[in-house]
Amino acid sequence: MKVMKFGGTSVGSAESMLRVKSIVEKQTEPVIVVVSALGGITDKLIKTSQMAVEGDALYQKSFEEIKQRHEEMIDAVIPAGEKRNELQTKVNGLLEELRSIYQGVYLIRDLSSKIQAAIVSYGERISSQIVATLIDGAECFDSREFIKTEFKAGKNRLVKELTNKLVCQNWEKIPQTSIVGGFISTDVESGEVTNLGRGGSDYTASIIAAALNASVLEIWTDVDGFMTADPRVISSAYVIPELSYIEAMELSNFGAKVVYPPTIYPVCIKHIPILIKNTFNPDAPGSIIKDEVQDDSRSIKGISSIKGTTLITVSGLSMVGVIGVNRRIFTCLADNGISVFMVSQASSENSTSIGVQDEDADEACRVLDLEFQKEIEDGSMFPMLAEKGLATVAIVGENMKHTPGIAGKLFGTLGRSGISVIACAQGASETNISFVINQNFLRKALNVIHDSFFLSEYQVLNLFICGVGTVGSSLIE
Ligand code: ADP
Ligand code: ASP
Ligand code: MG
Repeated sequence: MKVMKFGGTSVGSAESMLRVKSIVEKQTEPVIVVVSALGGITDKLIKTSQMAVEGDALYQKSFEEIKQRHEEMIDAVIPAGEKRNELQTKVNGLLEELRSIYQGVYLIRDLSSKIQAAIVSYGERISSQIVATLIDGAECFDSREFIKTEFKAGKNRLVKELTNKLVCQNWEKIPQTSIVGGFISTDVESGEVTNLGRGGSDYTASIIAAALNASVLEIWTDVDGFMTADPRVISSAYVIPELSYIEAMELSNFGAKVVYPPTIYPVCIKHIPILIKNTFNPDAPGSIIKDEVQDDSRSIKGISSIKGTTLITVSGLSMVGVIGVNRRIFTCLADNGISVFMVSQASSENSTSIGVQDEDADEACRVLDLEFQKEIEDGSMFPMLAEKGLATVAIVGENMKHTPGIAGKLFGTLGRSGISVIACAQGASETNISFVINQNFLRKALNVIHDSFFLSEYQVLNLFICGVGTVGSSLIE
C-alpha cells in the first residue's frame, strides 16, 4: 500500500479536485489519501477568528465566504443526487457548529488556543468529507481518532507509540481507498482537538506511512518536485531528481516549504522513500527522497532561506576559556522553550552568536540577561545584543563533504555582490553551510548564489540536451 498526500492547492479548485480524483482512481494498489483543507481556508479560518475576538461584526461575512466556498466546491464536483444531498447535510452540520463557535468567540471576546485549534480543524474535517464523496468507493477516516499529541515544553507533540498502535488498529484491514484529513489530532489526555502545526498534513501522511510500512509516501503539490530553490523567488530554479533524506531535511528545515520538516524523520527511519509530485503535471517524474542517491557531480543540491531571524550575541571577556558558558546559554534557552537554529562561535571564545526566530528574541534576551546577571553586573560580560531583521540562508548537499572551494565560492560570490555576511556556521557533517545576512539583501543573495552554483550546470545541460543557446540570468528583481 502507499500513502498519497494532496495539499491545499491540489484540493483548492474544482479543476484540481477532479485531477485528484483521476490520479487516485488510477491507482491499483490500496492507497491512503491524506488531504489538506481547501487552499487558503486555514488562513481564512484563523483570520475570521481574529475578527470575532476583536469584536468585528464583519466576521459573519467572512464566515459566510467560508461556507460559500465549500458549498460551491460541492456543487462543482459532486453530481446532483443522493450522494450530494448526504454530503451537503454533513458539511452543513459542521459549518453550523463552526458558526456557533465563532459566535461564542465574538460574544465572549475570548479565543483560547484550544478554541483556535477547534476552529482550524474544520478545514480538514470538511475537505476530507468532500474528497471521500468525490472518489468512487472511498472510505473516510477521522485522524482525530488515531493521531495523538501531548502538550510538552510549550508545544503539542506527537505521542509516537500510541499513535502508531492506533493507526495500525485503524487499518487492520486496508480498503482500496481511504481518505483522511491531515493536520488535525487530539490531546491524549483531554481528547480535545489539536494539530501538528501549519503545513502539518505532510506529517500526518508520514506518520501513517511509517506506522503501516507503506511502499512509498507521495506528496502531491503544485510544483514539479523539490527544486534547487524556492521557485517563487528564483525563476530559474529547477527540479532535483534525487535527494537524500539528510539533504531534504536540511533544506526543509531552512524554509523549503515544499515538505513540512517533521515529515522526513518517521519515513526515513523506516527507509520509506518520499516522492514529490505535481498534481497539475502528473506525468512529470517528480523528486525522490531516499537513503542512497545516484552519484551526481553537483557540488550543492539546493538553497533555502528563512526570514525573521534575530542574532543574539553573548559576549564578554569572562567567557574565554571558561568551561560551562555554552551549557548555561543552551540550558537556559531550552528551559524557556526557545529553539536555537544556528550557532556561531569563534575559536577566541569571547562571543557566541545564536540565531533564533524574531518572535522568540525578546524573551531569549530577557532570560539570558537574567542567567548572566552576576557577570553583567561585575562587567565581565556584556548585556545580550540582539540584531533583528535578518535572514538565514543555507546551501545544502552531501557532495560538499571534503570538496574544497565551496565556502570560497560562496563567500566570494556574496562579496562581489556587496553582501555582507553577519554570521556563518558549518557543521562537521559538511552537508550545510548557513549564514546570516540583512533581510533586505535576501532576494539578491539567493539569486547570485543560485546563478553561481546552478546556472552554469544548467546551461551545460541545456546545451547538451537542446544543442542550442543559453538560459538567461535568474535575476528577477
Ligand atoms: P501544499 O499546499 O501542496 O502543501 P505548499 O505551499 O506547502 O504546498 O508547498 C509547495 C510550495 O513550496 C511551492 O509552491 C513552492 O512555492 C514552495 N517552495 C519553497 N521552496 C521550494 C523548493 N525548494 N522546491 C519546491 N517548492 C518550494
Ligand atoms: N491546512 C493546514 C495549513 O494550511 C495544514 C496543511 O495544509 O498541511 O497549514
Ligand atoms: Mg505544504
